Parts: sequence; C-alpha cells; structure tokens
Amino acid sequence: MEKREQIYEGKAKKVFLTDDPGLVIVDYKDDATAFNGLKKGTITGKGVINNKMSNLLMQKLEAAGIPTHFVEELSDRETLVRKVDIVPLEVIIRNIAAGSFSKNYGVKEGTPFEQPTIEFSYKNDDLGDPLINEYHALALKLATKEEIDLIKKYAFAVNDFMKAYWLERGVILVDFKLEFGKTADGAIVLADEISPDTCRFWDAKTMEKLDKDRFRRDMGGVEDAYNEIMGRLS
Ligand code: ADP
Ligand code: UDP
Repeated sequence: MEKREQIYEGKAKKVFLTDDPGLVIVDYKDDATAFNGLKKGTITGKGVINNKMSNLLMQKLEAAGIPTHFVEELSDRETLVRKVDIVPLEVIIRNIAAGSFSKNYGVKEGTPFEQPTIEFSYKNDDLGDPLINEYHALALKLATKEEIDLIKKYAFAVNDFMKAYWLERGVILVDFKLEFGKTADGAIVLADEISPDTCRFWDAKTMEKLDKDRFRRDMGGVEDAYNEIMGRLS
C-alpha cells in the first residue's frame, strides 16, 4: 500500500491518501488539545497508544458485529482504514455523570445513571461543536432517520461491549465519544478513534482518572495514565 499526499491534518491525527481510492492512512500525533483547541500541549507517546488501543478495540467490536473502518495496522502510529464521509455528529454515550453533563445539569461527578444516555454534537469547530438533538440533525441534513437509528444502535452496542470489557480489566467506562462514517457503498461504519483522548476511564478500585482529563484539568501524571490504561489491555 503506497502512502500518497496528506489530505487533512487535524488536532490529533493526519490523514493520507493511498493508491486505493477506498482506503486512507491515519497517522496519530502526540499533540493534545482541549476546550475546542484553546489549550494545547504534547503527551509523549500518546499517538502510539491511541493508535494501538483504537485498533485493538475496533477489532474486538468487529468481532462483536459492529462494522468499523479498521483495515490494518501499518506501524506504531499509522493505520490503514476505509475512507469514509464522516457523519458530522459527535455521538456521546455516558454511564456516569462527568464533564459537561455534570456542569450543564448540576449533577455531581461520579453519579451513576440507571441506563446510559446518548447525545449528539454537531461536529463543527467554528460553531464550537454545539449540542443538538435528532430533529436538528435531520433538519441540518447531517444524516437520514435510518442512519441515525443505526448509529444509535451501534453506539449502545459499543457501550455494552466496552463497559464489560473494561470492567474485566479493572476499569470503569464513564463516557466516550464516537464518530461514524459512510463508505462509498453507503454503509455506516464506526470511524475515527477510541482512546483515552475520547473516553473517560476510571480505575475501578481507586477511581483514579486514566484519561485525557488529567491533561484538561492540569492534574499531572498524564503520560503515566496513558501507559497505565494501555497496560490494562495486555
Ligand atoms: P479533528 O478533525 O477533530 O482535529 P483529528 O486530528 O483526529 O480530529 O483528525 C482526524 C480526522 O479524520 C477527523 O476529522 C475525523 O473525523 C477524520 N476521520 C476519521 N476516520 C476517518 C476515515 N475512516 N475516513 C476519513 N476521515 C476519517
Ligand atoms: N469528547 C471527545 N471529543 C470532544 C468532546 C468530548 O472525545 O470534542 C469525549 C470526552 O473525552 C468524554 C466524552 O466525550 O469522554 C464526554 O465529554 P463531555 O461532553 O463531558 O465534554 P468535556 O468535559 O470534554 O468538555
């Protein structure tokens, strides 16, 4: 597979074309941002960890019946994935109150829910990724009703799988963000990444944060936390 020109550089990854029009290569960086790019920094080794964790989890999810963009890990930081048109929705599932949920609704961080919640943000940096509902997504023509129904089904299935998977490894899955995309033949697949950048992970015994919140909140021990959570997978 030949790596061709870069088509995109985001906050955490670069995307390259290949000699196959249906495939792209994603290249994970150590750059970290928070608060819509306002806070910037580096988390040494993060790109390698996020690449490997995302690939491992996506392969498990495929085996559990959830279609993903994953094709092949090419190196420590590079992965071959199916090229998709990203559905411009950030799909957030929560099992426990934290972050913006706690802030917006005045709920103490750590409060568990009886059932998971789902929410959508319109993926648009200029607008600051505003929270929207399904009707807004339809009005904005971000996806069809059928696609949104499928995305919700997949997102809850990802949660069911991941909650159990992480708990077996002594980790509580608090919340996470997913992105979905549409392949050339119109199929909806899980895309982007699943990593400590996009999930909140708490140690089940100590409740210690093992994710990007350590960076967002200047808690220190960021690299150690990324290494610790990656270690739980082996
Ligand atoms: P951001 O765009 O938010 O700064 P990244 O730095 O992670 O995020 O950039 C990666 C970009 O690639 C994102 O915009 C993401 O939606 C997009 N992307 C993820 N998976 C795929 C895929 N399989 N095909 C095409 N684009 C993808
Ligand atoms: N999240 C993400 N990208 C975003 C916003 C949120 O990956 O642009 C993830 C975040 O890591 C957390 C979950 O989505 O696991 C819920 O985040 P929240 O809405 O609480 O936002 P935050 O506290 O990060 O502002």
